[in-house]
Amino acid sequence: MTTVEIAGREGGRVNLTPDLLDDLRARIEGRVLRPDDAGWDDAVLVWNAMAARTPALVVQPVSARDVAAAVGFARVHGLLLSVKGGGHNIAGTAVAEGGLTLDMAGMREVSVDPDARLAHVGPGCLLSDVDRATQQHGLATVLGFISEVGVAGLTLGGGFGYLMRRFGWAVDNLDEVEIVTADGGIRTANGVQNAELFWALRGGGGNFGVITRFTFRLHRVGPMITGGLILWDADRAGEILAGYRELTGTAPRELTAAVVMRIAPPAPFIPAPWHGRHIIAMLVCHSGPNADADLAPVRALGDPIADLITEKPYVEQQSMMDGTEPKGEHYYWKTEHLLGLPDGFLAAFRAGALKVPTVCSESVIFHIGGAANERADDDGAVGNRDSRYITGFAGAWPAGTAPDTHRAWVRESWARIRPFSTGGNYVNFQLAEDDTARTADAYGKNFERLRRVKADYDPHNLFRVNRNIAPAG
Ligand SMILES: Cc1cc2nc3c(=O)[nH]c(=O)nc-3n(C[C@H](O)[C@H](O)[C@H](O)COP(=O)(O)OP(=O)(O)OC[C@H]3O[C@@H](n4cnc5c(N)ncnc54)[C@H](O)[C@@H]3O)c2cc1C
Repeated sequence: MTTVEIAGREGGRVNLTPDLLDDLRARIEGRVLRPDDAGWDDAVLVWNAMAARTPALVVQPVSARDVAAAVGFARVHGLLLSVKGGGHNIAGTAVAEGGLTLDMAGMREVSVDPDARLAHVGPGCLLSDVDRATQQHGLATVLGFISEVGVAGLTLGGGFGYLMRRFGWAVDNLDEVEIVTADGGIRTANGVQNAELFWALRGGGGNFGVITRFTFRLHRVGPMITGGLILWDADRAGEILAGYRELTGTAPRELTAAVVMRIAPPAPFIPAPWHGRHIIAMLVCHSGPNADADLAPVRALGDPIADLITEKPYVEQQSMMDGTEPKGEHYYWKTEHLLGLPDGFLAAFRAGALKVPTVCSESVIFHIGGAANERADDDGAVGNRDSRYITGFAGAWPAGTAPDTHRAWVRESWARIRPFSTGGNYVNFQLAEDDTARTADAYGKNFERLRRVKADYDPHNLFRVNRNIAPAG
């Protein structure tokens, strides 16, 4: 191996001589990759092609000891370091430009203890890995709507999905983690051990170390649920949105419903005459008894273009939207938290949604109100405990197309709905362009406490390729 020039943490370049690289290889049981090595392209691939970056070196650890060795190496040699879980972060923070990326794909094991109702989850797992393993026992924890997303990034930022109304944020179901901190120590954090660190990890992102194991509490769910999509003509958007507000105002926590407005893609489940026309849809998941009765108000809206709500396995529901946001396109999102859906918001949302410039983009409202609202705002760093909905505009377009029209649509639509925001936004949906003030907004009054924990565990900001929280002082 020749000398590798690699980005330094404080700027500039660091030369890693062959001796130093041999030393790294000798300490790592997993792989150390350079651009010509097999597996490099997958190791550096991120979901949002607009945020693609190229590191100089990738380490693929297979154990916490490997992670500790790589973290120590990056610290001692002053290297720019990033950590990649599922690679889905829209800001592309999984990969350090010119630096060292820890790709956790080699640590993808899940073990379920059905008696204790716990799942021990490797940091390279995708949501589908966990859902498949836990559902074998009729159990599940709170994870997101697209099964190809990484468990690590989703959980560390908070994590919401179909089960959030029943069981809170994903982090509300986190029992314990194993973490390698900036000093290279392998620690356990839970409600008792390193409790302040555990508080920060429950929403504070990848700022405090590298998680090498997550332990989640599980709940009885499925394995069959009632769920799917129901679609209407967007000319009826006013009426459907009002129906959605009424439904979500009274729905039991077993029922989660989201609204999606978009141009209908040429998908086989949408009747051909509707392809290319504006539609409004509800995506629903009912994980309890009485689904038909609870979904009656949805069906009472009448005259759908297609009604695809049916009884199905929970794992199928968890992956049914995967095709809607494929890897490798360009993406640009803006989101906000909401307390409710006043008329002014619904009118602004509809006006923005109807101006969407492409068939790939969409406007969404997720209902999250329920269990998470019942905890104190400082119960975990995730905060936003007053929020009942997350809404946003998701611009998507093929690589190679000029971004201006798409970004302008998102920004203009976002400006319309911003007056209705709680002031909070979801950190896991932030873009690379979003500044520290927006990250601070995502945490509200928990932000300063996060900065103090950062100062305790990572005073030199080794973990900075993320939605960064600078150490206090
Ligand atoms: C198509 C799509 C759908 C989504 N749907 C949902 C949803 O339904 N609900 C929801 O809550 N969110 C959702 N998200 C947002 C998602 O939570 C974030 O994109 C999240 O960052 C993805 O995690 P990842 O592991 O794939 O990300 P990566 O890009 O791999 O990592 C993101 C960041 O997480 C940190 N990180 C990753 N692994 C570790 C580790 N082992 N230790 C320490 N830090 C680590 C690092 O700081 C890294 O920069 C969605 C995103 C996409 C693209």
